[in-house]
Amino acid sequence: MSITRHAGPVGPTRLLAGLSGGGRTSLASHFDQWGRIPDATPGAILDALDASDLRGHGGAWFPVGTKWRSIRKAGLRTPVVVANGAEGEPASGKDRLLLMQAPHLVLDGLALAARVTGAGQAFVFAPAEVVPSVRDALAERAAVGLDPCPIEVMVAPDRFVAGQETAVVATIAGRSPGLPTFQGITSIRVKGIGGRPTLVQNVETLAQAALVARFGPPWYRSVGTEGAPGTVLTTVTGRWDGPRIVEVPLGTTVGSALGIDPSASGLQGVLLGGYGGGWVRPEVALTMPFTEEEARARGTSIGAGVIALLPTGICPLAEIARVARYMEGQGAGQCGPCVNGLDTLANALEHLAWRPHGLRGGVAAIPGLCDLVEGRGACRHPDGVARFVRSGLEVFADHAALHASRGSCAPSVPFLPVPTDPPRGFVR
Ligand code: SF4
Repeated sequence: MSITRHAGPVGPTRLLAGLSGGGRTSLASHFDQWGRIPDATPGAILDALDASDLRGHGGAWFPVGTKWRSIRKAGLRTPVVVANGAEGEPASGKDRLLLMQAPHLVLDGLALAARVTGAGQAFVFAPAEVVPSVRDALAERAAVGLDPCPIEVMVAPDRFVAGQETAVVATIAGRSPGLPTFQGITSIRVKGIGGRPTLVQNVETLAQAALVARFGPPWYRSVGTEGAPGTVLTTVTGRWDGPRIVEVPLGTTVGSALGIDPSASGLQGVLLGGYGGGWVRPEVALTMPFTEEEARARGTSIGAGVIALLPTGICPLAEIARVARYMEGQGAGQCGPCVNGLDTLANALEHLAWRPHGLRGGVAAIPGLCDLVEGRGACRHPDGVARFVRSGLEVFADHAALHASRGSCAPSVPFLPVPTDPPRGFVR
């Protein structure tokens, strides 16, 4: 059964098509632009998700159809679905942008997920600043009876790990706000909020699912590559005066997507995937097809679509130390690596950046500190920090050697955003 009824936007701008760059799109404008989602059975929608090969855009890149199917089959209890817009990653702004300007696209995806899984309750988990936009959108939908179950908005704590699935469930359930919890071997897909099967899906993914349900798999796959179809919203830092949200066809090289000549980039390094991702040399990052598989083959991840382009003239070791200290403060303090290991690692990096002659064991000691935190937490927070640090020491090895021999650099303006910096605002 085909569910394609409308023509979707042509070209690589999809989610961002028609956004005003300003306020929230009203329900009337939303329907003018996108039409309604055609009626289809849950099975037909799942088949369309499978055929499109839509993956989770929150960082895991797990097949969406498979995830929704697992909730549907999880048991006798009525499921719960959650639109996860926590976006605790400071270098990312795309989920906020969608919830601020195109909340109906996200809510269409959430309502679709509720229908397919048979959910009896839904939540939008989002930072405080976007809650008014979501609430206004929900009021418009309630007035016309659009959604199949009640949808509540829950404020996501401003914390890096707040968007991890167990943290989302714990926060909504009223336990340990913003902190991951030990789930044991039982997945939240089986036993989550209120002991019910729970689907936690990133808001961009839901918006993409809403487009697949409207326009069908062939349309979705008409952009991107055979193995990585569709587009991804990226938050780009270092290309323009401020951070910007850009929609990139998967498989495009970063250089061509951002209009940068790899042979004359003026960059020292490129951070892919944010603070749990990894640093890549510019000539590699700019020529690499932008897909999760290609990023993993280079030891990193595109994660939630963060691209940070570090120019020359900024000390990369100071940037790594600032972020490592921020990440140390974001752990939940309930596992060994977060209690002790990340502080020790951040201390070593601060020495390397600003007091290199005081670093016991020199630069060579730092990968060993990464070993001590990797794979030892109940969640992947310490693993992400270790990857960020380890990859940085590889890409900036020459710079680290200079610090060891000549001392630290002159102070430079902070480049990578951490929440203690003044707000910069994301634009598209
Ligand atoms: S590893 Fe850290 S962030 Fe993750 S659950 Fe343990 S204490 Fe919390």
